[in-house]
Amino acid sequence: MPIYEFRCLECGNVFEKLFKKPDEKVAVCCPGCKSESFERVISSTNYLMGTGKSGKKPSVTTKSCSSGNGCTTLEIPGPDD
Ligand SMILES: [Zn+2]
Repeated sequence: MPIYEFRCLECGNVFEKLFKKPDEKVAVCCPGCKSESFERVISSTNYLMGTGKSGKKPSVTTKSCSSGNGCTTLEIPGPDD
C-alpha cells in the first residue's frame, strides 16, 4: 500500500496518508491546522509506488467540501500494467 508523506506549508507539520488502493481519491489536509496547503515529501521507501512507467504522477486538485471549506484531493494513478 502506498504511503505518501506531506509537509504542511502553514505550520510545517509532516503527516502521512495511506492509500488502500492505487487509484483511491482521498481528501488530504493538515491534521494539525486543517490547511490544504502542503507539499509532497518524497520518501525513498515509497517513491516508486505512485509513479508509473509512463511518468504518471499523483495529481492534487482543490475542491469545495460540504463543510464549505476547501479540500484538496490527491489522485494517485494506478500502475500501467
Ligand atoms: Zn498545518
